[in-house]
Amino acid sequence: MPRSEKPILVVGGGIGGLSTALALGRKGLPVRVLEQTPELGAIGYGIQLGPNVFPMFDRLGIRDAILAESILPGACRMLDALSGEEITRVATGPSLRQRFHHPYIVLHRVDLHHVLLDACRAVPAIALESSTTVTGFEDRGDCVAALTEHGEAVEGAALIAADGLRSRIRAQLLGDTEPRPIGYVAHRTIVPMDTVTADVHRSDVALWAGPGFHIVHYPLRHGTLFNIVAVFRTSTHAEKGDAARYRAELEHTYRAAHPTMQALLAMMDLERRWPIGDRDPVRHWCRGRVALLGDAAHATLQSFAQGACMAIEDAVCLAELVGLADGDIPAALRHYQAARLLRTARIQLESRSMWEFYHVEGIARDVRNDTCRRWSEQDVFRCLEWIYDGITLPTALPRPEPARRESAAAAS
Ligand SMILES: Cc1cc2nc3c(=O)[nH]c(=O)nc-3n(C[C@H](O)[C@H](O)[C@H](O)COP(=O)(O)OP(=O)(O)OC[C@H]3O[C@@H](n4cnc5c(N)ncnc54)[C@H](O)[C@@H]3O)c2cc1C
Repeated sequence: MPRSEKPILVVGGGIGGLSTALALGRKGLPVRVLEQTPELGAIGYGIQLGPNVFPMFDRLGIRDAILAESILPGACRMLDALSGEEITRVATGPSLRQRFHHPYIVLHRVDLHHVLLDACRAVPAIALESSTTVTGFEDRGDCVAALTEHGEAVEGAALIAADGLRSRIRAQLLGDTEPRPIGYVAHRTIVPMDTVTADVHRSDVALWAGPGFHIVHYPLRHGTLFNIVAVFRTSTHAEKGDAARYRAELEHTYRAAHPTMQALLAMMDLERRWPIGDRDPVRHWCRGRVALLGDAAHATLQSFAQGACMAIEDAVCLAELVGLADGDIPAALRHYQAARLLRTARIQLESRSMWEFYHVEGIARDVRNDTCRRWSEQDVFRCLEWIYDGITLPTALPRPEPARRESAAAAS
């Protein structure tokens, strides 16, 4: 494959950006990651990753390093937040590994980031640059320039925008606005496991689903830490408050919740709040030498815990296509968009339905619980197989359709 002298620019050093850099760098392609924060790192909470991400980790050469930092929970339990009853569960132990060939894991985001960073640092073709905020791009025909807030124009053969939910590159590429607030907010906390007083399943993932609110919790770092996420609907989602105000709001919102949930909330640090935003799927994420990736392309509600998994799949798929394109970057990016569009759009759309499903009330809650109770382990696996069976990576660039070849010939 002919090597371009100019590097591929990756805007954003989050999970998607570092995975992209690693996937491209391992193919010997020069990469420059431009990250706005002074230090490349992650916010310190947990993350769940499904079995579909493991073939990607194999491509990235980080499976063992990831597993060394991970916990393999026995189940993801869904509990009714009012009664405390277990409604259904995804078995995430041996039967899931047998069905989907790879494990389901939870780990600290900081640890995931370190594994990605260490792997990137071991690849000479990858340059990691912090304190570099990209404000836009300029298509220069035979290359693209990333424009930084310091007035620099960094030229590259391609620009991959992995700059997250509020991507500036997306705003320029699509003329897009801010993500749509859905009226929910999240609070996240990690506490030492030995301070957990609530009567909970400490080695599993649990999702307590209630009317307009939920809590997710799971263990981290060899069971020494306990990660809690509380999510709820509030009319104050766009306002800034302080911990005391947030506390009063949570106590009111969760007043009917099961006593175990009250105990979980009592352990939470409420200093920081994340308003939850959503985006509609869009058909076009690339133009010429610029493409969006991860949340910048297809941000999703976290109902399936798949946002980061999709970013990692994007990264490996994109690198495969760039590797196959024989220097034709615009063709590689078009094929990348086509390969990823429907899968990621389905995640976005079904995450919305699942969000509703978690938060129903009244008779809809009774129907949900009754339906879920009837599901067998295999029924649950069948619902998830479109996600967990993963993707087939491209091994050749798709050939143009005959009709398109004819119309192209007619046009020329
Ligand atoms: C509460 C919650 C729980 C979640 N749980 C899960 C889960 O369990 N499993 C899962 O798979 N997903 C989960 N997700 C989704 C997951 O966090 C995201 O999908 C994932 O982080 C997207 O990665 P990204 O690299 O695309 O974007 P980001 O992680 O947002 O990274 C973007 C990076 O770009 C940088 N950046 C932004 N703008 C610029 C700029 N102009 N110039 C330079 N750099 C810039 C940022 O500093 C950041 O480092 C969850 C999300 C939330 C909110």
